[in-house]
Amino acid sequence: MSSNIDLCKSALSKYDLDTNPATVKQKSRDFFWYSPVLKARLDHLVGDFVVSPKNEAELIDILKICYEHDVPVTTRGAGTGNYGQAMPFDGGCILHLNHMNKVKEIHPGSVIVEPGCLIKDLDAECKAHSGQEVRMFSSTWATATIGGFIAGGSGGIGSIRWGSLRDLGNIIRLRVVTMEAEPRILEFRHDELARVSHAYGTNGIITEVEIPLTPAYDWVDMAIGFDDFMEAARYSDAIANEDGILLKLASPIEAPVPFDYFQRFTPHIRREQSLVMIMVAPQSLDAFLTFTSRYTNAEIVYRSDNNDWPRNPGPIFEYTWNHTTLRALKVDPSITYLQVRYGYPDHLEKVAEIRKIFGDEVPQHLEAIRTNGKVHFAGLSLVRFTSEERLDEIIRIHEDLGCMIFNPHRYTLEEGGRQSVDDRQLKFKQEADPKGLLNPGKMIAWDDPDFKYDEMYVYPKMKKAV
Ligand code: FAD
Repeated sequence: MSSNIDLCKSALSKYDLDTNPATVKQKSRDFFWYSPVLKARLDHLVGDFVVSPKNEAELIDILKICYEHDVPVTTRGAGTGNYGQAMPFDGGCILHLNHMNKVKEIHPGSVIVEPGCLIKDLDAECKAHSGQEVRMFSSTWATATIGGFIAGGSGGIGSIRWGSLRDLGNIIRLRVVTMEAEPRILEFRHDELARVSHAYGTNGIITEVEIPLTPAYDWVDMAIGFDDFMEAARYSDAIANEDGILLKLASPIEAPVPFDYFQRFTPHIRREQSLVMIMVAPQSLDAFLTFTSRYTNAEIVYRSDNNDWPRNPGPIFEYTWNHTTLRALKVDPSITYLQVRYGYPDHLEKVAEIRKIFGDEVPQHLEAIRTNGKVHFAGLSLVRFTSEERLDEIIRIHEDLGCMIFNPHRYTLEEGGRQSVDDRQLKFKQEADPKGLLNPGKMIAWDDPDFKYDEMYVYPKMKKAV
């Protein structure tokens, strides 16, 4: 298959087309560089041009033109994904959805929105027009799009109550356009949603999203200090299990991470203090304080409704999920991270075991989440990186202990996920993207069905560094 970039560009010149090398480069990148492994392999990648459709009709025509010229298409929301999800391995078209950002309809309990809407803007409109808010969002709330969250994210603030994006009920409907000579528009609900959600845009472009809403609250941010990290973890688990207390977040973060990397907290805490970051609904505040007072070692070091800190720390959720890693990286560029699942019911024991083995080489950062009604932990552990070999060994030790790893140092859906082929996503790609033009190199099952998963997958057609 030979691609014809110049002909394609001239056919697309009627649209909002960007061919400026500096901005094309900027829009070809995401947050892959969190991983030293991916940084070493993806840093040089760049698309050939960026095109930004204003609506679904333009998007369909753009896909038709790219299909006709065999030009690969990598969709971009805001490019905050990790894993190199939005990096164009084979060059070609960056389909930027920044103009498709309208909130279309708000109903009691749900909203219909275009994919390029920033989650922050979506939340603001829902709150202003209906007193409702998005149930769950990534800590990149201020900068990420709702379409990118669904195609690339997994869960976040709100997962303590609502579970993960993949759980039934957290997405109501997706409208999807295929990559064919005559693109089709399809609507997915129920079990079919798994064909395209968290598929990195490898098998269709999401053009409309319908998700549930919940009443909006003026959440109170809290940071609770503990000298013993395991006590912080047990406290988080226990409060997340208090059915009458409404929380949106409970994130234990091990010392010395808060003192060393959260600069606005440093003057107010001790180096040996681990913190639990909390978002609590105002009507639950009394119950929350009563519960916390039972932990005699717990110290409320920050509360957003009553503090005299000269420098406001900003939203507490921007210290949690992958923002913890970002803050650490800004101070110490040698830091990287892992994504671990400490499953119910022995999640606390597993965390204790891992801490014993690695100590300060892998500082713990946990997120209390709910799965099938049971609270357990997603770990976004920090790693003091020394070598790729040691990183692989750390991952192996976690897996040997029964802690599942979603490896953020791999760029394929399979390796970053459950290390196995998702048949539903593969089958839909066979139907919807027959030329394999959508986000190439991200689905091993499409490129190499016999891959054994005994080494890192290398996409053979990845553009070489020049
Ligand atoms: P992008 O990065 O632009 O895209 C993500 C993937 O989706 C890409 O593969 C892209 O091709 C594809 N895509 C985008 N739009 C569409 C579409 N309309 N149709 C089809 N495919 C599409 N993730 C979490 O889940 N939870 C977190 O709490 C979280 N915290 C983060 C914190 C930091 C500091 C950083 C850097 C990342 C974090 N992430 C988190 C990852 C990422 O920010 C989120 O998944 C985010 O919501 C992605 O949105 P985006 O608009 O930036 O998507």
